[in-house]
Amino acid sequence: MQKNLQIQQCKRWVIKVGSALVTDNGKGFDFELINQWAKQIAKLIESNHEIILVSSGAIVCGFQRLGKTSRPTLLPELQACAAIGQMRLANGYEQIFGKYGLITAQILLTHEDHADRTRYLNTRATLLELLKLKTIPIINENDTVSTDEIKFGDNDTLGALVAHTCAADLLVILTDQNGLYDSDPRKNPDAKLVQNAIAGDPVLETMAGGAASTLSKGGMITKILAAKRAAQSRTHTIIANGKEPDVLLRIADGKNLGTFLSAESNPQNSQNSKKLWILDHLQVAGKLFIDEGAKKALQENKSLLPIGVVRLQGNFVRGELVGIYAESDPEKEIARGLINYNHSQSQRLLKQPSNKIAEILGFIQEPELINRDNLVVF
Ligand code: GLU
Repeated sequence: MQKNLQIQQCKRWVIKVGSALVTDNGKGFDFELINQWAKQIAKLIESNHEIILVSSGAIVCGFQRLGKTSRPTLLPELQACAAIGQMRLANGYEQIFGKYGLITAQILLTHEDHADRTRYLNTRATLLELLKLKTIPIINENDTVSTDEIKFGDNDTLGALVAHTCAADLLVILTDQNGLYDSDPRKNPDAKLVQNAIAGDPVLETMAGGAASTLSKGGMITKILAAKRAAQSRTHTIIANGKEPDVLLRIADGKNLGTFLSAESNPQNSQNSKKLWILDHLQVAGKLFIDEGAKKALQENKSLLPIGVVRLQGNFVRGELVGIYAESDPEKEIARGLINYNHSQSQRLLKQPSNKIAEILGFIQEPELINRDNLVVF
């Protein structure tokens, strides 16, 4: 299908805005630019779009308000800045969207909220309710309580996960660049803007090399990877310059701007929502190493039985997510799933037939270590 038609059919959008834009390159909350976006979003809502905003900028607004000129490096300082700056963001968004009769709603998430099935389902229900109420959910990572272990890392990734959570049609990543170039435009004056590509095409990752700015966490590479992730829920991505006049309205009209990364033509892109949630975990609690028979069974869409597991790593509990590796190639994760037994029980079940589980453990929860409904094979 043609790109403009694909985009015109997209009604539920996640719009991710980066720190450099939101804060006018570190000067502070950019009322003027955000007002431009809000005006356009109000028109999109009128034409039956649903909009979720993922906004960075808390840390930058925080250190700017404290009169500092550069991003701190220590975690407690960053967390304090995020706490201060998030007030600025919430206040600013509420005020600006209010001018257009729109109500905003703040959601702060950690990766733990996303990885816990109940909290994830609660977040999803809240988000969908907010959309039903025609409000604008504004999401950021809850930086104040996030440590490295529980972090999404960057808001491009968070944008893609939010797109999965609410089954968005389109992820719009607004940045201070025009989109993805085939080589670094700062070094190569002949670099060309990539206008259309398939999300997940590995060539995009080589084009997107290069560091992020000093203000934000991501760079072009995190945007390309976010598009690849978003495509798993058939969400298309557009990376565009947030300072372009009427950028959002022009995108909605299917005009040629930025880089469009289509979610079509990718066979991986039709995971059901539970499998997407499994894929969205950025960390696993343990690892299982399996034999060739079990590997074949997984490829045939069967469950993982204890008899095929030769060793394990990690202190996981029942229900946690584990990565699965072939013992013959132990560096490459081939599947992941939610395990039915904790690590010490699983250890005792290694290489054992399922009909011995009750005898070995004194009870049986399930005959398989991981049921196929709780497995994603790559
Ligand atoms: N959550 C961070 C903030 O609001 C931004 C992370 C990022 O730049 O991706 O300041």
